[in-house]
Amino acid sequence: MRHIAAITLLLLARTCFAWGGEGHRIVGAIAAAQLDKQTAKAVAELLDDETVADAACWADEVRSDKQYDWIKPLHYINVPRGATSVDMQRDGAKGEQVVSSIAKYRDILKDTSRPKAERAQALKLLLHFVGDVHQPMHVSFKEDLGGNKLTVTSFGKKSNMHKVWDTDLIQRRLRDTKGGWATMSADLRQAITDDQRKAWAASTNPVDWANESFAITVQLYAKAPGNDGVNDDYYKQWSPTLNARLQAAGVRLGALLNDTLKAPASPKKP
Ligand SMILES: [Zn+2]
Repeated sequence: MRHIAAITLLLLARTCFAWGGEGHRIVGAIAAAQLDKQTAKAVAELLDDETVADAACWADEVRSDKQYDWIKPLHYINVPRGATSVDMQRDGAKGEQVVSSIAKYRDILKDTSRPKAERAQALKLLLHFVGDVHQPMHVSFKEDLGGNKLTVTSFGKKSNMHKVWDTDLIQRRLRDTKGGWATMSADLRQAITDDQRKAWAASTNPVDWANESFAITVQLYAKAPGNDGVNDDYYKQWSPTLNARLQAAGVRLGALLNDTLKAPASPKKP
């Protein structure tokens, strides 16, 4: 039985899409490394000791399970072409999306009167969505399904702009990285400066995170890959941006969890 469980987990692990599995794990591991003791304990209890990195993939692993179809629109937010920023009154009006979902599931996670299963699910969704909102192509345009329909050649293979940012650029770096995503995550975490950490952690509004992503998306569409498609030049040009998005997502996820799961302040005197 243990073997079957392990194999199932492996199969599931391979189906983590957005930020291509590795991306979500990298974000999760950066966040996990900065949890204070009490938060780490609460997280481990809610996840039944599954790692934060693995649990960050859950929302993608259940994509083929119909009972979780309601999660599908929550991975992204669409912005109209020509817009200069995310406008929640306009872009959030059509229903739930990644930005409002972060606030919603943070509130559920915080509410210790709710059942453990509900809070555990909210935690898994948060681990995932904070990653997604930092992926530029998840804050993008409806017409091409966030770049999914924007076909490009990427390192010699047919791909699309969504996949380039979910997976291909990370895979390019992993080709040169011994130890896979865990090494990449540790390297990125150690490269975060104190000033970056402070600045990223101080920005706690998911609308701002989405706006940062959207500003990058606008640039990505303005400077679409040329005839050669996505190649090492493109990778060199954009990898600092990619790294910063993964780092910022990890730092903010860690800060959000510390803030959400800290012990409630002792009741104020009347
Ligand atoms: Zn996702």
